[in-house]
Amino acid sequence: MTARLFELPEIPVIPVVGENAGYPIGRIFCVGRNYAAHAAEMGVEVDREAPFYFTKSPANAILSGATVPFPSGTENFHHEMELALAIGAPVFRADKAEARAAIFAYGCALDMTRRDLQIRERNKQRPWDLGKDVENSAVFAPLTKADGWSPDPEKAIRLHVNGDARQDATLSELIWGVDEIVSHLSGYYHLRPGDLIMTGTPAGVGAVAPQDVITGEIDGLSPISLTLGQPE
Ligand code: MN
Repeated sequence: MTARLFELPEIPVIPVVGENAGYPIGRIFCVGRNYAAHAAEMGVEVDREAPFYFTKSPANAILSGATVPFPSGTENFHHEMELALAIGAPVFRADKAEARAAIFAYGCALDMTRRDLQIRERNKQRPWDLGKDVENSAVFAPLTKADGWSPDPEKAIRLHVNGDARQDATLSELIWGVDEIVSHLSGYYHLRPGDLIMTGTPAGVGAVAPQDVITGEIDGLSPISLTLGQPE
């Protein structure tokens, strides 16, 4: 093995409720427009033929409870509260039952977004990276194992900014369920342990500002929080 010229910053390991060992972050896939009311507030229609995806770099992942600088280059930094799932077994071209069996755990996540840059790039039919693959923008709360929790439709998903309610929906609004997402994505990637999937955000996304405290919850999962500092 060739020696390393330098060391990279460590990628965080996500705590797992009831386990001493945590979940290492391999890849981060994100589903776009998976709640109809959110697609509508973004001024676009939902494609019900197939889900679509973007990715975030594992290097941009952080854990719940962090305080991070307000990011550069945006006048419209948005919160997106999401259900994340963590793959626990290799799965490729899976049917829905195989897909569900490959899910190791679930957790609350935030997909923080430079909305102005995402929309600008979207309107120019360019990739979304500047808007979506933002430093410190993939936030994960401790995971709950799939034998102790399931994404039932009545479960609420909520987000508050400084205590004010911003997003309030239930998982019944998911267009593509978790097994459909994993099954579909496994047609394109050899999914494996370390792969996380953010399943999209409900309506109510909006701008946040320096000093804001973002908190989110999904019934039965560990809550998530993020504090924004001053811009650098
Ligand atoms: Mn999202």
